[in-house]
Amino acid sequence: MTSLQEVRIDLDAYRRNLESIIERVAPAKVLAVLKANAYGHGAAQLAPVAQAAGVDRAGVVSLDEALEVRAAGFTKPIIAWQHLPGADFAAAAAHNITLGLSTADQLQAAADAGASTVHLAIDTGLGRNGSSPEQWERFFSTAARLEHAGLIDVEGIFSHLSNTSTADDTAQLHVFDAAIEAAAEHGLHPRIRHIAATQVALDRPDARYDMVRIGIGGYGLSPDDRTSAELGLEPVMRVSTRIAQVKRVPAGTPVSYGYLYRTARETTLALVPFGYGDGLPRQASEAGGVLVDGHIYPVAGRIAMDQFIIDVGDADVQIGDEAVIFGDPKRGEPAATLWAESADTINYEIVTRIGTRPGRVYVGGATSRSSASQDARDA
Ligand SMILES: *Cc1c(COP(=O)(O)O)cnc(C)c1O
Repeated sequence: MTSLQEVRIDLDAYRRNLESIIERVAPAKVLAVLKANAYGHGAAQLAPVAQAAGVDRAGVVSLDEALEVRAAGFTKPIIAWQHLPGADFAAAAAHNITLGLSTADQLQAAADAGASTVHLAIDTGLGRNGSSPEQWERFFSTAARLEHAGLIDVEGIFSHLSNTSTADDTAQLHVFDAAIEAAAEHGLHPRIRHIAATQVALDRPDARYDMVRIGIGGYGLSPDDRTSAELGLEPVMRVSTRIAQVKRVPAGTPVSYGYLYRTARETTLALVPFGYGDGLPRQASEAGGVLVDGHIYPVAGRIAMDQFIIDVGDADVQIGDEAVIFGDPKRGEPAATLWAESADTINYEIVTRIGTRPGRVYVGGATSRSSASQDARDA
């Protein structure tokens, strides 16, 4: 039985992307970024693949995400780098989760909870989390005191770049170096210094330090204007569905909410059952592109919650034909980036927002298996 919608995740492609990046950035180590359910790909399924690919560790935002990755069988170190007051650092200690911490108070809380391994988060100019230069004195002296007392191990120090320009990134690297120096003056010598995410990790050896954090590149997507192929990466996620209805209509037939689109002549309209309820951006109405029988058709009219229409002219499109919403352009499929450009956003958002209604199908890896939602749909 064929399912209506399918999000196919190629675990082997994820492994190959990571292996390739690991080789390119060596001797720097690689942290696999698995936050936000692995950018919508499925953190529990990808975590063991990342481990098998040979990453040094995993990184997530919240402690909950870290515990999910741990439960999925990821046995190497995991860093979680954003916490609210009262976060369960005892759970971090119990499951051996490394904490990325931004404030002196967090350091104290970690020590109190017995969460011993910490990475110091530095704000080098992104203006988000991390300790800013005015706070370094208290931050580093607190870390040094707790480490000296044997309560914590300051294993790492890290920051995050704005990707505004090469010059802006360079300025942040200088601030990072100053933070490392200031920490050293307090007797802190973190062994793992890290600041680069995918783009800078690939392009700038001077920004790799001891480790790089790889999110989007592992998922086979480009962090910038280059294509996946140009970066030697394979998209991991392929989203498809099947044509649910076709109808021959006369010229002047209006299509979907607001009548943004009217047929120019007698034509065939095909219904693609995938909408913003499945994570497609409504802003991509009248844009985007789906591959059906070797042709890429843009969305005709508004994208609705559950569906949109394509105008296939006189093509012999049939109910049940596969419609690929995005996948690997090397196979002629639309890129996630096409949808991103159509919706004035980035490919990161396109994959991360693909919802839970479409079943996930995992191919490759040690075993091929379907997600529970897929099994339920096929049953
Ligand atoms: C999301 C994130 C990354 C990964 O960035 P990519 O561009 O996807 O490689 C790295 N570091 C931090 C702190 C992040 O939040």
